[in-house]
Amino acid sequence: MIPYGRQDIQPADIDAVIEVLQSDFLTQGPQVPAFETRIATLCDVPYALAMSSATAALHLACLALEVGPGDWVWTVPNTFVASANCALYCQAQIDFVDIDITTGMLCPAALEQKLKTAAQQNRLPKVIIPVHFGGASAPMQQIAELVRPYDIKIIEDASHAIGGTYLAQPIGQAIYSDFCVFSFHPVKIVTTAEGGVLTTQDTQLAKQIELLRSHGITREPELMQKENPEPWYYEQQALGLNYRMTELQAALGKSQLTRLNQYVTRRNELAARYKAAFSGTPISYLEVPQGCYSAYHLFVIQVPAELRETLFKQMRAAGIGVNVHYIPVHWQPYYQALGFYKGQFPQAEQYYQQAITLPLHPRLTEAQQDFIVKRLFSLLP
Ligand SMILES: *Cc1c(COP(=O)(O)O)cnc(C)c1O
Repeated sequence: MIPYGRQDIQPADIDAVIEVLQSDFLTQGPQVPAFETRIATLCDVPYALAMSSATAALHLACLALEVGPGDWVWTVPNTFVASANCALYCQAQIDFVDIDITTGMLCPAALEQKLKTAAQQNRLPKVIIPVHFGGASAPMQQIAELVRPYDIKIIEDASHAIGGTYLAQPIGQAIYSDFCVFSFHPVKIVTTAEGGVLTTQDTQLAKQIELLRSHGITREPELMQKENPEPWYYEQQALGLNYRMTELQAALGKSQLTRLNQYVTRRNELAARYKAAFSGTPISYLEVPQGCYSAYHLFVIQVPAELRETLFKQMRAAGIGVNVHYIPVHWQPYYQALGFYKGQFPQAEQYYQQAITLPLHPRLTEAQQDFIVKRLFSLLP
């Protein structure tokens, strides 16, 4: 099966991990800070904080923004469930903003409308979580502009998007948001096996995240309440979790990052080959909005809804690991039980019913890609 996404592990990555295994520290050593520094430099942002997953990063971002019972958090239906679950971990209420079907991302007009209604009903969200679907940035400038009249915080879910740029700035700079979150799951752009990083411009928020990811404990005397602490003393100041990244993961990530540009360039080349093959055919694909350079985590085509399932099965039968991103979150049974219903976010639902994700990753060969395209055309009526 040609997978839709796959990690690329080179000998240098393996050496980097082995070196850590032979070193003094498997966790809480020098690798995590070094990995964080690389990301901070890459994203031109003062703070980058590594953790055990993007899901953990989203949870801590919500906690640091003091999301709690009685608060609302908004995200989009076209995302992985983790973008919505983070609000529920904090006992907040979740709601969704519909998408623009041409990009798969949050629709500014839908947001504007929903904000107006919510303002009238006194139900404005505390936090909004736009998703950089497929590796291109959501329209952050417009989103930031729309929420400005209200006191609404923004967390970018950039799980797909490390290496992409928005208005000529690296995604992760977090200038339109309070936090930006990356995932390093193996199907994403670069991997740490499991892992995530959260970036921010805000010193106080960064300090809070550092505390929360490690039990709410500090070992820095200048941050402690106790005066003249004993040398063994540590202090728990908040109810944190253990969301730390290991040294092995950070070493792998650091090694992977040396090839980030190469990966993103190759993904863009392969995406351009798909686009060339589909131009002037009935197959359409998601647009990368103006001002965006996509990291191209996903290449999504749109086919007539009545053909989607058959095409999917036939492609799989031909050894092509097509996928679907995403089943609208509000269609999941867990969310239906919260009161969401089908038909509630029609753009995301129509998008979903037409979507097929084609394989795209740096190790995909042009011959494999040509086979995928040829097979797809042969299956069209
Ligand atoms: C992968 C992904 C996540 C979760 O990432 P993990 O690192 O696996 O926790 C969250 N949001 C989106 C959009 C993702 O694609």
